[in-house]
Amino acid sequence: MTYGLISDIHGNLEALEAVLSELESVERFLCLGDIVGYGADPAACVERVRQLPNLTCIAGNHDLAAVGRYDLNWFNPLARIAIEWTSQQLTPDERSYLGSLPLTVELGEAIAVHGSLPEPMEYITTLQEARQCFDAMSGSLVFVGHTHVAEYYRVGGDKRLPEQVPLFSGGRVSLEAEMRHIINPGAIGQPRDGNPQASFGVWNLEAGIVQTRRVSYDIARAQDKMRRSGLPEYLIARLAQGR
Ligand code: ZN
Repeated sequence: MTYGLISDIHGNLEALEAVLSELESVERFLCLGDIVGYGADPAACVERVRQLPNLTCIAGNHDLAAVGRYDLNWFNPLARIAIEWTSQQLTPDERSYLGSLPLTVELGEAIAVHGSLPEPMEYITTLQEARQCFDAMSGSLVFVGHTHVAEYYRVGGDKRLPEQVPLFSGGRVSLEAEMRHIINPGAIGQPRDGNPQASFGVWNLEAGIVQTRRVSYDIARAQDKMRRSGLPEYLIARLAQGR
């Protein structure tokens, strides 16, 4: 069984389509939240994601904020502008879909959450934050998004401290039985790890392997659509920088 791991699409349809064309052979999809927010095509991205075969999807902070279920005061001013614009682009049906997404989902030994455990909207960017998540998790594997940084953390075996491993140009994570992992497949629609290519993953359950990959997409086209939608210039520029 293989899962396509997709996260932080953020209304970037060009990036989403580029990733999905790399995932045509997977059997299932796991979406780690933030389908909308920032990009020019929130409605099209919601429709595209919800029609994916065998989809499991959890909510991100932007998904919930766009439908009035998460406080806008948690966001910086530019993110808030984008969320308010996004909110106006969604149909009632798309809004109720986003509002119905769960905060966490269990898939066998794995748990999916947008940010961290036990707090779904917290960030994991440091070993200290990763350790809090390790302490809160019951199984051996957690998939997260939220930071827009492709990386993983692992602990176990004879290692007393967790380690943090970057995946900014893709990589392979072997899920050894004695280890526990937190894996972030990176962002599709707004990477922030220095690589502007869209980031995604493939989880092969039988092989016990998670592979993350990067794919180029038409950044200029995505930026042009954002500009025509009147979205903030800073959010447009950062797509090309991957920061
Ligand atoms: Zn996000």
